[in-house]
Amino acid sequence: MSFDTLGLSADLLRAVSEQGYTEPTPIQRQAIPVILSGKDVMAGAQTGTGKTAGFTLPLLQRLSENSGQNGRRPVRALVLTPTRELAAQVGASVETYGRHLALRSAVIFGGVKINPQIEKLRRGVDILVATPGRLLDHASQKTVDLSQIEILVLDEADRMLDMGFIHDIRKVLALLPKNGARQNLLFSATFSNEIKQLADRLLNTPELIEVARRNTTAELIDQLVHPVDKSRKREMLSHMIGSRNWRQVLVFTRTKHGANRLAQQLEKDGLRAAAIHGNKSQGARTRALAEFKSGDVRVLVATDIAARGLDIDQLPHVVNYELPNVPEDYVHRIGRTGRAGNEGEAISLVCVDELKLLSDIERLLKRKIPKEVIEGYEPDPSIRAEPIQRGGKSQGRPQGRQKTQSRKSKPSSARSTTARGNGNTKQKRAAAGETGSDSKPPRKRVRRHTGEAQASSQHRRSRSASVREKPALLGGNSSED
Ligand code: AMP
Repeated sequence: MSFDTLGLSADLLRAVSEQGYTEPTPIQRQAIPVILSGKDVMAGAQTGTGKTAGFTLPLLQRLSENSGQNGRRPVRALVLTPTRELAAQVGASVETYGRHLALRSAVIFGGVKINPQIEKLRRGVDILVATPGRLLDHASQKTVDLSQIEILVLDEADRMLDMGFIHDIRKVLALLPKNGARQNLLFSATFSNEIKQLADRLLNTPELIEVARRNTTAELIDQLVHPVDKSRKREMLSHMIGSRNWRQVLVFTRTKHGANRLAQQLEKDGLRAAAIHGNKSQGARTRALAEFKSGDVRVLVATDIAARGLDIDQLPHVVNYELPNVPEDYVHRIGRTGRAGNEGEAISLVCVDELKLLSDIERLLKRKIPKEVIEGYEPDPSIRAEPIQRGGKSQGRPQGRQKTQSRKSKPSSARSTTARGNGNTKQKRAAAGETGSDSKPPRKRVRRHTGEAQASSQHRRSRSASVREKPALLGGNSSED
């Protein structure tokens, strides 16, 4: 099937063929005609499926069909994304696919100066791609008018809710023309009850579109678990990168602090590495990503939220240095590899503390991930599982509902998964690894984890920084807004 059967205009088909795309992906095949027909859409598709073009192409066509603007140009389409990187990426797609059309677009997110954004909005923009926090900053300063929006897209809606943006989303919705007077498109990799509730409120008799999810069609991605002691993970990772001659590897840690520390340690091992996370300035994040893409940086160490929306084609290796607290994040992480038909490899270094997280992931995937012990890195069977720290103010004490469940559940590592799905934003942010917490082992294991004292004081500094950061996260000026 080719693109020209989907009802797209010649200008858009030209832009598509200039990208070298010969065939629409399944999500594009299904979504484009429905969106062109003006219907609301609820689509289950994650990054890597071609979903961005799936909504951008018909959106551009609909706007260009009835552009006839004279004088003032109101914003007519709004794409909300959870992270800056995703906003930038969607913005770039809008530019690319819309290059032969007379439509203007802008991308606005926090962490950069607001004045150039105000200036751009003032000159007139048809399509706005934004993160919720900075968009609300503009709305409160009356530098953006959302009352003429014809098409609203919520991209990676599950992630927006995970990051606690539901209140911001509600505020944004209140600024739009009333429902029924606009087309709504919701894209999400997963469908929790929260997403369904949001969809019920937002969408009018939507067309449901679901493309095969990576966690059920992961044949392009080789998944493997290497059991290893926590204290030996770094050494093993360096060994793997060096001995297997990996040139480009994306490594996930649970925390910002852990990402920094690992990147520094890898550099000491002689591997060019950079960390990308929410405490980095936008400039540093963009630079790290560019150096990684160009091959100057061999290892990019990222937290889940920072990695969201990264579009790196043909990424051959993804390593879960630490398993995510939220099983769905595993699926997002491994979706960074094996993109657009390329093969990829997703390797998880799993210590005894993480066995419960691993079984949660396997339950979600509905399959076991093969395990392989690497010679020389056999786990020490005498090491007992320790709970994974979750962040927040109380060290070592589970919070909120966790507390209740922790009394009931054994082994202790089971507590580590309870932050998910309980609607507590603070805990979800912690679960997403962006509260500056760390899975630091307790003191009695100091003997096995040299450098612990230093890590501990760094950890405390990082923790207090994260406490200051939280209001900003909600207010939209944070790194992940
Ligand atoms: P997305 O899921 O939107 O993040 O897109 C993932 C990657 O697939 C991006 O690098 C796109 O450029 C690429 N892509 C999108 N549509 C197609 C297509 N029809 N054929 C080949 N690659 C595509």
